Amino acid sequence: MAENSAIEWTDHTFNPWIGCTRVSPGCDHCYAADLSEARLGVRWGPGQPRRHTAASTWNQPRTWDRRAARLRIRYRVFCASLADVFDNEVPAEWRGELFALIRETPNLDWLLVTKRIGNADKMAQAAGGWPENVWLGATIVNQAEAERDIPKLAAIRGPEYRFLSMEPLLGPVNLEPHLLYQPCPNSLDGLSQDPSTGAYECCSRCDWTAISEELALDWIIVGGESGPNARPMHPNWARSLRDQCAAAGVPFLFKQWGHWAPLLSAATVDWPATNVAWPDGHVGAGSPRANGGKGEQLYQAAKKVAGRTLDGALHDGRPDRA
Ligand code: SF4
Repeated sequence: MAENSAIEWTDHTFNPWIGCTRVSPGCDHCYAADLSEARLGVRWGPGQPRRHTAASTWNQPRTWDRRAARLRIRYRVFCASLADVFDNEVPAEWRGELFALIRETPNLDWLLVTKRIGNADKMAQAAGGWPENVWLGATIVNQAEAERDIPKLAAIRGPEYRFLSMEPLLGPVNLEPHLLYQPCPNSLDGLSQDPSTGAYECCSRCDWTAISEELALDWIIVGGESGPNARPMHPNWARSLRDQCAAAGVPFLFKQWGHWAPLLSAATVDWPATNVAWPDGHVGAGSPRANGGKGEQLYQAAKKVAGRTLDGALHDGRPDRA
């Protein structure tokens, strides 16, 4: 459980700097932009200066690290909720400073989640290489992003775990081609062979051993969008990812429904229906909304009311070390 963060999958949140540019449909309703512009005076977008946070903020992870060492536990730290670590408008020296802090705090697991996974490896190498206590996540909101970005994430060596944050989930996503490494097309008798030289073990992706069954991804987090103008997540999109993860043996965490949630007894109500109250007495703030399937209605609800059970079950899968 989170010790000092409202986010279900982390203990602490740390922002080394603030500011960013929208780069994905997942950014359309970026809460960080709204919050930072309204309360912190940091403007979003290309060319807008990013703001380095104060030394007192940077000292917090050192405090968490000392406490974790004393208690002989590990804390997970989400970095950064009001920025993107691999934003190319952030000065490279700031990232160097951040990676030094990550190395300085070995009792913390640092969760770096980015919508710019294509920048991640080269920027990490420029910052001295991947610290061992990094868990690297890519945000994926639809199939197009999955096809574009998962291979980039899976090819990165160095972080302890690689995971997906599929929030806000905006469409159905087939992960099957990505959850396991595919056998190398040059594979022969269980080894990779370079067709030009005849030598085995020809590419870094399979780490010289023609891996075909190793997990390419260590964790999948799924959630719907919250906040004003949130876009509904069809329950079948989440169910499908749950089932794909179960089949591949990948830990699955269902974080939240968000602003839209299914009527608990939807299967018994014909579409379209209007003005239907939640079974527990809550009434949706708006009318039911179709989102891709007869018999599935989603209702606007407060995030807490919507909850985080999927078909009546909590899904709190995490990688081994968690
Ligand atoms: S990458 Fe993250 S912080 Fe940046 S605009 Fe998108 S949602 Fe907001």
